[in-house]
Amino acid sequence: MEPRTISTLLIRGARQLLTLRGTRQPRRGPALQQLGAIPDGALLIEDGVLVEAGPTRRVENLAQARTAIEISAAGRVVMPGFVDSHTHLLFPFRPSCDSEPGASEHALRSVTGMRLETQARVHLEAMARHGTTTVEVKTECGPESEAELKLLRVLEAVKWRPLDIVPTTLLASPPSGVAEQQQWSGLDQWLAGEFLPKVKRRRLASFADVFCENISALSESWSRYLAVAQSLGLGRKVHAEGPASEAVALAVKYGAASVDHLEYAGPEDIARLGSSETVATLLPAASFHRDARYAPARALIDAGAAVALGTNFNPHHTPTLNMQAIIKLACCRMGMTPAEAVCAATINAAHALGCAGRVGSLEPGKSADLLILNISDYRELAHHFGMNLVHRTMKRGEIIWDEGQVAPRAPKDLRPAW
Ligand SMILES: [Zn+2]
Repeated sequence: MEPRTISTLLIRGARQLLTLRGTRQPRRGPALQQLGAIPDGALLIEDGVLVEAGPTRRVENLAQARTAIEISAAGRVVMPGFVDSHTHLLFPFRPSCDSEPGASEHALRSVTGMRLETQARVHLEAMARHGTTTVEVKTECGPESEAELKLLRVLEAVKWRPLDIVPTTLLASPPSGVAEQQQWSGLDQWLAGEFLPKVKRRRLASFADVFCENISALSESWSRYLAVAQSLGLGRKVHAEGPASEAVALAVKYGAASVDHLEYAGPEDIARLGSSETVATLLPAASFHRDARYAPARALIDAGAAVALGTNFNPHHTPTLNMQAIIKLACCRMGMTPAEAVCAATINAAHALGCAGRVGSLEPGKSADLLILNISDYRELAHHFGMNLVHRTMKRGEIIWDEGQVAPRAPKDLRPAW
């Protein structure tokens, strides 16, 4: 659907307006609990940018509000759009019986760019319906340059429509054989001299990510990859699905914006992240889908780490793109409070993507990326599961999803068919 543009908007009467206002740093400790909630709140938006957030009685009396188009949020929660800070959405769906190792990676390399683009648009629209307004998308073909560049070009084509996409080039998970690993460790030259500079020059990715498992033979390669990314001014991320120590140490050393997964983070990793700038991005749906171990969210928060959340959406491995379900899992499986989970799914996720200056909270000067939810208290997000509570999604002040009505049925349709 074509988004509708309205230049000045007044959203008024929200039962709870969650602004997430606060410091410019990632939120940690008690700050993770502070949602900047305003009862009976209103927002004034001009040309897609937030001008004011405050109590309805004050905002509706501002001069610009008098000519604005009004949207009632009576009885509802208004909050920032979700920032999904970790996805693999380009992966093709594979039936679960097809468990051949590497099958989905192979499919990703062989599928055409056009087909990927069509599929990506379908997922992005579904994300908009579920309240996501900014999403990070990882590739995962490297070191196959052509396939990797194909994925990055697809991301370029779907950028901004309707969501903001933060593209990340992810160096694929290493092979298990020793010979193949040796081959991999010889990739440094190509990565440093050719691939990453090309990505940077063409502005194809914001982040360089590395799939870092505890394979010491490759740690020098990963170090160099991150060092080159740093020297080129590309953001850094580290994928830590297995034992995390090496991954966490590398992430902190190379100033990564985030280290992600962390299901196996131990006490040392937790302490290290507690005193670092690197955000810990946690992905409870990955654990739920595999019926596996969850990341130690409570211990990370208590140690002072800045925690963010993401879906890890991958149609094959983690088939959910609903950030509301992630908040539910973060609360009921990882011991986070509803306020911490909301903060981790918005402003801290924006920090993990380096875009917290534009999105993640509802403060003057920021993009009007917001949700109107069919609940009257945000804590209901931690109660419902798998539901879609989004009434409206707005991106840069445009309505990109508007809940439709269930079609009224004629009386004859209500009779049983038999
Ligand atoms: Zn992942």
